[in-house]
Amino acid sequence: MAEKKAAAKAAEEKATQAVEEIKEAAPAVEAPKEEAPKAEKKTAAKKTTAKKAAAKTTKAAKDDASEKKEEAPKAAKKTTTRKTTAKKTTTKKAAAKKVEAPAAEESVAAINPAAEKIKEGLAPVIEEVKAEAPAEEIKAEAAPAEEIKVEEPVVEEAPEVTPLPEPRRSIAFIGSECYPFVKTGGLGDVMYALPKALVAQNCDVKVILPRYKCIPQKYQEKMVYRGAFHMDLCADGRTYYVGIMEYVWDGVVYDFIDNEEFFSVGKPYTNLIDDIPKYCYFGKAALAALNYMDWIPDVIHCHDWQAGLVPVYLRTMFDNTPIARAKVMITIHNLKFQGIYNIPTIKYWSGLPDYVFNKDALKQGYDDANMFKGGLAYSNVITTVSGTYAQEIQTPFYGENLDAHLRYHSAKLHGIVNGIDYGMWDPSTDKLLAAPYDVTDVIEKKKKNKLAMQESLGLEQDENKFVIGLISRLTDQKGLDLVNAIVPQLMDGNTQVVVLGTGDAVYEDSFRYYENAYKGSFCAYIAYDESLAHGIYAGSDAFFVPSRFEPCGLTQLIAMHYGTVPIVRETGGLKDTVEPFNQYTGEGNGFTFDRYESGLLLDATNRAKTIYFEHREAWDEIVKRNMNKDVSWEVSAKQYRQLYVEMTQ
Ligand code: ADP
Repeated sequence: MAEKKAAAKAAEEKATQAVEEIKEAAPAVEAPKEEAPKAEKKTAAKKTTAKKAAAKTTKAAKDDASEKKEEAPKAAKKTTTRKTTAKKTTTKKAAAKKVEAPAAEESVAAINPAAEKIKEGLAPVIEEVKAEAPAEEIKAEAAPAEEIKVEEPVVEEAPEVTPLPEPRRSIAFIGSECYPFVKTGGLGDVMYALPKALVAQNCDVKVILPRYKCIPQKYQEKMVYRGAFHMDLCADGRTYYVGIMEYVWDGVVYDFIDNEEFFSVGKPYTNLIDDIPKYCYFGKAALAALNYMDWIPDVIHCHDWQAGLVPVYLRTMFDNTPIARAKVMITIHNLKFQGIYNIPTIKYWSGLPDYVFNKDALKQGYDDANMFKGGLAYSNVITTVSGTYAQEIQTPFYGENLDAHLRYHSAKLHGIVNGIDYGMWDPSTDKLLAAPYDVTDVIEKKKKNKLAMQESLGLEQDENKFVIGLISRLTDQKGLDLVNAIVPQLMDGNTQVVVLGTGDAVYEDSFRYYENAYKGSFCAYIAYDESLAHGIYAGSDAFFVPSRFEPCGLTQLIAMHYGTVPIVRETGGLKDTVEPFNQYTGEGNGFTFDRYESGLLLDATNRAKTIYFEHREAWDEIVKRNMNKDVSWEVSAKQYRQLYVEMTQ
């Protein structure tokens, strides 16, 4: 009994101390309390937040067109909701702790009613205090207090309100592909995920895309006619139809430029003879559409060569129109493709004045015009998709003949690494996996996914095999000649390789050859298949990305997020995102090599196999570390936002 009393006393002291700490912390959160006195009602508070954000939006948008005013609050509401959800996810652990120790928290309130008052609407502070003084500890000591039967008040959880970063900025993305409408590579992923991440960073985003015929019917049906006009384009004065079809989804507005003549071919890219006129038209139509809709963004964000003429048009033909108020950024997703054709053709299709065809802007060599080069020259800011690639492209080896041009413009060149969309890539909710998993059960569930993948691809079913995945466009860029060179040495009876990709015949054929030569151990799935890609990311142990150059690379990020260990060449974004495994400290995310040599790829793979087969605990640690690594868009979206703000101040 004496022991119980002492324990109760100790609990009371502890509780009083906690209340004092809460009281001390209280002034720091007085403002939110005043702003949202009815914080007990979760839904009401949510509405208040949304309204506040909407009010900010309206303020920021007051110079813009009237329809923007209508759209913005909707977007802001969504943003707030998303933010709250995100915050909830990050505080999952804290919430779990709360579940474990409600008694402690509640007895604190009962012993000193002041605590209850502070608690109302100030849950975040309580959470903070709990984090400092572990909940389990309080629970252990406070348990006897429950025995003296104090009344337990019901404390409603108050929402955590994270203010959106200010000031709000409006951005028009202009690019040639965007998931899920049309995607051929990483650009499509970025055009989808970055706008969504920017909406969560208090940006108002419109994405302008061509309305290709190959966009699936289910999206075509949802598009709403927004208007149409005719626009002059080429030097002979002929005018062209520009239709605008709109689709609003997840807080992002997608405006599709409609023109049968240019976009009725099945695929987005065909050949330069067709693609040059197509994107001369698209860039100009995108700007004209913004003027037509009277939606003048703070920043126009152009992507790759297909939008390369946008900055040039903006500062020449559109100079005396409303859209000229916008600043312009261009992002290099891949410098290999630049939109180069002879000057007369590009001059004809663009109708641009003679003076832009000089060596500092569009002109390249003696008689070529380079659309990307012009865009880089006329943009306020240039970004590319990793810090290392930003440096590499200023050298002759990686510069694709634009290294001198980029060195000249280096003061406005920045590198921001890409992320992946956690909504699209989440192994714990991925319906395409045989056995979804998270970091707590990855080791077991990965085996199930491996067996399912082996079965579906005709490989020998054995969870102990070391399986290497490769998902890629099959082109010279991706280091596939290195893979080809080492396949015979890889096939040691304990290793399997799965290739998913399409592209150059030379690689398609060689991988088919290997599939035949190493039946049951090598799979060449020559296709573009999103669903299968998910199964391979989950079912493989390791993942090859031995690229010759790699601006950022998404596949190694997705692989890591799915607990698959990347084996990569140290170039571009691969270097920035995959830290080499250090066998002495156990740190790192993958296995890397530097020079472009097949022997080094084999060496890196053998190092990986040694860890996998002989030090499985160390391997499992890498798997879990990779799953916990933050490869989301959040950090990068903040960096883009920062640049938008800086360039528009
Ligand atoms: P790049 O843009 O150079 O093609 P990235 O690594 O940036 O390379 O992006 C490639 C994207 O395309 C990833 O989302 C990857 O999963 C996807 N991908 C590439 N090839 C295929 C394929 N054959 N089937 C399904 N998805 C693919």
